[in-house]
Amino acid sequence: MRFSQLLIPTLKEDPAEAEIISHKLLLRAGFIRKLTSGTYTYLPLGLAAIKKVEQIVREEMNRAGAQEILMPMVQPASLWEESGRWDVYGKELLRFTDRNGRNSCLGPTHEEVITDLVRMNVQSYKELPLNLYQIQTKYRDEARPRFGLMRGREFIMKDAYSFDATDKEAEQSYHKMNQAYHRIFERCGLRFRAVEADSGAIGGSFSHEFMVLADTGEDTIVTCKNCQYAANMEKATCVPASKSKDEPQELTKIETPGKRKVKVVCEFLDIEPRQLVKTLIYIVNDKPVAVLLRGDHEVEEVKLANILGVSDEDLRMADDKEVYDATGTPTGYLGPIGLEIQVVADTEVATMVNFAVGANDKNYHVVNCNMGRDFTPTMTGDVRKVTDNDRCILCGGDLVLTKGIEVGHIFKLGTKYSASMNATFLDAKSQEQPFIMGCYGIGVSRIVAAAIEQNFDKDGMIFPIPIAPVQVLILNLGLKDTEITEAANTIYADLLKKGIEVILDDRDERPGVKFKDADLIGIPFRVTVGKNFNKDGSIEIRTRANGDVTTTTFADSVAEITTMVEKGLNQ
Ligand code: ATP
Ligand code: MG
Repeated sequence: MRFSQLLIPTLKEDPAEAEIISHKLLLRAGFIRKLTSGTYTYLPLGLAAIKKVEQIVREEMNRAGAQEILMPMVQPASLWEESGRWDVYGKELLRFTDRNGRNSCLGPTHEEVITDLVRMNVQSYKELPLNLYQIQTKYRDEARPRFGLMRGREFIMKDAYSFDATDKEAEQSYHKMNQAYHRIFERCGLRFRAVEADSGAIGGSFSHEFMVLADTGEDTIVTCKNCQYAANMEKATCVPASKSKDEPQELTKIETPGKRKVKVVCEFLDIEPRQLVKTLIYIVNDKPVAVLLRGDHEVEEVKLANILGVSDEDLRMADDKEVYDATGTPTGYLGPIGLEIQVVADTEVATMVNFAVGANDKNYHVVNCNMGRDFTPTMTGDVRKVTDNDRCILCGGDLVLTKGIEVGHIFKLGTKYSASMNATFLDAKSQEQPFIMGCYGIGVSRIVAAAIEQNFDKDGMIFPIPIAPVQVLILNLGLKDTEITEAANTIYADLLKKGIEVILDDRDERPGVKFKDADLIGIPFRVTVGKNFNKDGSIEIRTRANGDVTTTTFADSVAEITTMVEKGLNQ
């Protein structure tokens, strides 16, 4: 490919709309262009990187015995009604009506369609196990599409679905996918970690997420310094505190004029935040719910949603007016005593003795409050985020919090969809049984963004060789010089013959522009044919990742470049 003929609209400045590095660089390097919020056109270089990821995914899925299919993107509501998700999936599901008045949606995921396909076409245990996958554009009407390819409304996903006859076989299918995922992300050249995850709206019995480690990640992952424990914050638990042995003291109301925030109240009462219980009001499906939490802890909304049996989209913090309407008390003075709405206490609160709470009276708090004696919550459970002061649930070791980007997610679904959609096969005794299912997603387009978040410098992207759009970029720095141009053209043609992917920068631009663009688009190897070639016949090969420069001759250049590329690909 010749640079002069390719659409690579590089930009000199960072686009104002982009906040994180991958978004900035994908725009600046001319990989993508935005159509509307959360939807992008993949330009030649962007698409080439995506195709590289797709190919790795495809090879590893095939190796694991999965078969590629392609399902329709538009799905009938009737299937979603059968599974029960039409009413619960929420606003991410883009719904519409076709010319015949049939309710439809754009596929955000394909459990319903695949379950329908398999129930119509697979009858016997002899046809199992079965694992089908596709690589396809998904549509999710995300509440906050952002960060470019990281959270789009349209994005490319690989989704696979396994069908097994027994629980044991289903676990083997899960295990195979787990291994395939490790291979995929290793081959993509990513630093990642597999973590225990919440099963969310898709439902199911257990799941793991694959997280690319990067400071800009939207997810927090919790790992143990001492053992293998690794979980998403949404799921992570820790060793609970042991119950305080202090004697309960007499409940005392204290005037705390104007003291509303935890820190301020604690300073005023001369106590630590860990001796106070805060009362937070959430609106859950239009109803207020109070959540009790130790002063220095934070609510984990996914855990809260799970214990309330709702989706995390169905809950949000109440505003000041809603707090007042629900409790008759202004924000800052709320407490559990005498509160007449549903109250969820975090497990940690049950271990505390003689804590401070709001008095449900403006400008007052009470001290020496005790759960069980002074109030009884509607329910108690783990609804808080773990912190790096907490201890590992498996071994008691120190926990560490890091940021991650979710690039893959595997679920053991069990019979959630096969039971509700009546998808059965005949077992060896000719008995009807529901399929035992698993589902396995990879964010193909997100991987490209995640790879950039992990690999860049001040000059641009640094692509891992296996997923770079092409492996080599040749700079012809003497367009009007026949010797230079002939040498550059010959190296280009010979590399192509050897199966190396290469772009020849044959634009009529200054060397400075070519060097800048080369760094920006992050092609692993840059080959320069310029002034030195005229002087002493030398050609320069520069490795983008570490800046190392190898000088070679025209005669040796193709062999040298080929060796470097092959070595890079097999690392
Ligand atoms: P998230 O928590 O980031 O919204 P999810 O749990 O909704 O992800 P899944 O339903 O498991 O994601 O989808 C499978 C994979 O698709 C994810 O692991 C992620 O890599 C990718 N993905 C999900 N939503 C998006 C999106 N809006 N844009 C790009 N990729 C996405
Ligand atoms: Mg999501």
